[in-house]
Amino acid sequence: MKWVNISMGAVTALVSVLSFSPVVAATEAAKDNVITVYSSRKEHLIKPLFDRYTAKTGTQVRFITDKAGPLMARLKAEGASTPADIFMTVDAGVLWQASEEDLFRKVDSPVLEAAVPANLQSAKDDWYGLSIRARTLVYSTDRVKPSDLSTYEALANDDWKGRVCLRTSKKIYNKSLVATMINTLGEEKTEAIVKGWVANLAAPPFSNDTKTMQGVVAGQCDVAVVNTYYYARLMKKDPQTPLALFWPNQDGRGVHINVSGAGITKHAKNPEAAQKLLEWLAGEEAQGDFAGLNQEYPVNKAVKPSPVVAAWGDFTADDINVEAAGRLQAAAVKLMDRAGYK
Ligand code: FE
Repeated sequence: MKWVNISMGAVTALVSVLSFSPVVAATEAAKDNVITVYSSRKEHLIKPLFDRYTAKTGTQVRFITDKAGPLMARLKAEGASTPADIFMTVDAGVLWQASEEDLFRKVDSPVLEAAVPANLQSAKDDWYGLSIRARTLVYSTDRVKPSDLSTYEALANDDWKGRVCLRTSKKIYNKSLVATMINTLGEEKTEAIVKGWVANLAAPPFSNDTKTMQGVVAGQCDVAVVNTYYYARLMKKDPQTPLALFWPNQDGRGVHINVSGAGITKHAKNPEAAQKLLEWLAGEEAQGDFAGLNQEYPVNKAVKPSPVVAAWGDFTADDINVEAAGRLQAAAVKLMDRAGYK
């Protein structure tokens, strides 16, 4: 957990106000100009944006980063006394959960409605996706031809026996993937597919996406399912890595996508200012960097992805409402357990 302090400029300003005005007025004035964000999105991906926003508007953005679970527990424990105006996190499953637990408030923002596609935001208008992450196939360019690949489902076929690497089913990304499969294919079909994946595993599930890809590089397996920004990181370190991305299900439901996103907390002290920040983050000025710092895709269709991301080519994304990832998360967990997916 980490607190990031308000800049010295703000402290100086506050001190000078205090010396000339009643304390209450000074506190009010300062409060209006400070937003507090609890974020499970990492500091290096958000701080540059918050700094830009402060430079542009004078509004200070104070934030802490931690895993989503502890931040949600903290929001609940703090209740009405929370300093948090915004909860920012990754994965629609987490956003959905936060909404279910009544941690957000409804936002009435035509700006956010226009900037964020309807399937990437809460039906209750209490959270909005801010970047898109694609969870797709990555394969060994030494041992696999792209024409060998077609769909997520096909990785359950016999010809992939001993050739598949997966990340642990405990990770929310895989819970969301399987939840959206349940939504589209039904439980029975999805369970048969997940059982097929497990039967084809070359190694026990890995703890993270990078290790999963390294399994392919090391020759343990030939294909894996990962979020594309981890592929970007690996390829940045060594562009000669013999891996490539594949966009599956292009004749069907499309590539599984998820979001990072945010909502305004139920007990926000400064909801108007918080809304302005979210509107800015979803807008054309900020979206390129918000997505680009992590090599993700902008949610705002008016903004192009970074050159690195654009070079991977266009793909058809599953247009399912990502809220299904939350709604069917419990069913997905049970299904993966039944299928023996650790
Ligand atoms: Fe991640």
